Amino acid sequence: MGKLVIKDLWASAQSTEILKGINLEIDSNEVVALMGPNGSGKSTLAYVIMGHPAYKVTKGEIYYNDVNILELTTDERARLGLFLAMQNPYEINGVTNRDFIKQALDKRQTEKSRIVSYYKFAVKLDKAIEELKMDKDLADRYVNESFSGGEKKKNEILQMKMLEPSFSILDEIDSGLDVDAVRIVSENINELKEKNNMGLVVISHYHRLYEYIKPTRVVVLINGKIVKEGDSSLMDYIDKFGFDSIKKEAGIVDEVTLLETCAFKGAK
Ligand code: ADP
Ligand code: MG
Repeated sequence: MGKLVIKDLWASAQSTEILKGINLEIDSNEVVALMGPNGSGKSTLAYVIMGHPAYKVTKGEIYYNDVNILELTTDERARLGLFLAMQNPYEINGVTNRDFIKQALDKRQTEKSRIVSYYKFAVKLDKAIEELKMDKDLADRYVNESFSGGEKKKNEILQMKMLEPSFSILDEIDSGLDVDAVRIVSENINELKEKNNMGLVVISHYHRLYEYIKPTRVVVLINGKIVKEGDSSLMDYIDKFGFDSIKKEAGIVDEVTLLETCAFKGAK
């Protein structure tokens, strides 16, 4: 169970403002599809929720189950049950996948349960790898090093299955996955959602993923602001008409459109 509350969140990177007053509340019984054009701030929002050091929160609050998480480090946020499947997962040379996941799990446990549970851990890891139809060898290779794009994405979900977070943000988990892999990954995500009543924010540009992981709400982020929310019919609308009409509705004028308009007026 988990509830995420974001209040008037502003964030920047390298002194550029990216998020400009985000207000959002998500319950664990929800699946939120976070959509928006490239560069609108979706990944930034995900990183800021997890406490990525490249981003500075200049205003606002984020609460997870009534805890102000902006005061916590990334690992403390993870231990509260928050998880991010990254758009571009990092490679960690010299650390095996097995050790990486075991370490993360150990941090949540007591010394005693750690010793007792190694066998259980190994069995669970084998099972999770099998369920994701991953190559068994990936458990003992360095984290993401020389993994294919699809293997990296499956590896994020492997971590999710092992850590069993109460709230997950999946940032373009479907990019780089073939059609069968999208289905397999989605089935695994849905299973964990059902099992633990995990809250979900799903960022994707593709309908196929949302056919498997059905959103209960669609949130549209443009230029660092939430400009529209709706049910799944909003997704169909975006699929058909793109983000342009939503931009117009929200009174957002692209720089390119503005330049074109100026050039046109100048020419008259
Ligand atoms: P999205 O995920 O919606 O495609 P991002 O959150 O990745 O968008 O990026 C939003 C904007 O912020 C982009 O213009 C991007 O170039 C910029 N940006 C993101 N991260 C950084 C960073 N660490 N430093 C500077 N600019 C950044
Ligand atoms: Mg992104």
